[in-house]
Amino acid sequence: MNLRRGNTLIGLMVAMAIVILATLFFVTGGKILGGKVEERPDGKGETMIGKSIYKAKDTQCRSNLGQVRQGIGIATDPVENTFPQSIEETRLGATFYKCPVGGEAYVYDPTTGQVNCPHAGHEKY
Ligand SMILES: [Zn+2]
Repeated sequence: MNLRRGNTLIGLMVAMAIVILATLFFVTGGKILGGKVEERPDGKGETMIGKSIYKAKDTQCRSNLGQVRQGIGIATDPVENTFPQSIEETRLGATFYKCPVGGEAYVYDPTTGQVNCPHAGHEKY
């Protein structure tokens, strides 16, 4: 009977140790086991959870740019082939004209109709 109780206690302690290690692994992003954490170009997000949040915002930035580009396509004069003078002419709303990660305003060139995000790592979006 005593031996059994001892086994249960050791089992419980091992289980707790595994849970604590797993938690540390996720919170530090794998650093405690010598894992290399992929650094973002903007240096945002220190934990694995933080990085996931910023990854979602990266996707939102890409989606914003896609919608703005479509809006520019619609606002482009098909006869004169002139692009809208400002990004606001797409009439999407203020939240679509800036990066959801850094809050920088998108850079729009009315002579080429190109729009880009100036945030570090978003240059090719
Ligand atoms: Zn961006």
